Amino acid sequence: MSGVIATRGLVKRYGRLSAVDGIDLDVRAGDVYGFLGANGSGKTTTVRMLLGLVLPTSGEIDLLGARMPRAGRRVLPRVGALIEGPAHYGHLSGRENLALLDASGPGARRRTRRRRIDEVLEQVGLGGVGRRPVKAYSLGMRQRLGLAGALLRRPELLVLDEPTNGLDPQGISEVRELLLDLHRTGTTVFLSSHLLAEVEQLCSRVGVLDRGRLVLQEQLATLTAPTGATVVHTPTPDRVRAALDGRVTSMDGERVVVRGEDPAEVNALLVGAGIPVTGLALQRPTLEEVVLAATGTSTDRVESR
Ligand code: ATP
Repeated sequence: MSGVIATRGLVKRYGRLSAVDGIDLDVRAGDVYGFLGANGSGKTTTVRMLLGLVLPTSGEIDLLGARMPRAGRRVLPRVGALIEGPAHYGHLSGRENLALLDASGPGARRRTRRRRIDEVLEQVGLGGVGRRPVKAYSLGMRQRLGLAGALLRRPELLVLDEPTNGLDPQGISEVRELLLDLHRTGTTVFLSSHLLAEVEQLCSRVGVLDRGRLVLQEQLATLTAPTGATVVHTPTPDRVRAALDGRVTSMDGERVVVRGEDPAEVNALLVGAGIPVTGLALQRPTLEEVVLAATGTSTDRVESR
């Protein structure tokens, strides 16, 4: 198996419950991989197995090319992780908490460590407050401190379980920018989420977990590729149907779907017939529609916003 994360037939059973039910994850270098699933679908259990915190019932895990959990001591220092509710000492400051994580491994000079801590605090937007005790931090600040801890060793891979949970919109957008920045500098990111919109905005590759099974795994661009149809918005849908004889596949209010993947050609026909057009675009499925089709359930299992 190659790739950054590769699992084969990964299973975790708790008694009769298969929390994770035979999944083959394939996360490649440079991906921002969104691991999407409703609450209880098995995301956290999977993340814990990847990091060697929970032993699989069966199956194999390769992390950065090495077999887990056996290679944990060698591989985990190259992986930054943030799993639900990062734990910090409330009476210590953000800097002191990070110092406890032993920034650069044994032997690193104190000054080097201090500099690295300053860097990551700055990177997550806590530069000004790193000296305050953590008990005075908001939930968003604690989450960002957790991310700072994950970044200390300049990991090749970041594994994040619901990284925006509990954050306000400002915090969410800060975390998103930070992850995109890290991605630009070559870090592979694997994040779990129950939020469709978050994954759609942030990720290049998507895996969908439904009751322990991986029902979909693909590049986002492939999943949301044009369908071969054009969407026309017009105040006179019936005239569009009359003009484009036989090419209209569906009508919904002022929205008409027309077979053909050249909006300019459709536009020319409609304008030629004197039909007003207020909008024209290639039709692409949304991630929500794709997930719905794959899970065969309503998207109330994964939240669209
Ligand atoms: P959430 O977002 O709510 O954390 P999740 O997708 O991360 O959901 P998991 O926490 O992995 O889901 O849980 C998957 C299933 O396994 C759930 O039904 C859960 O109750 C069960 N489960 C998880 N850990 C244990 C455990 N230690 N013992 C028994 N059952 C467990």
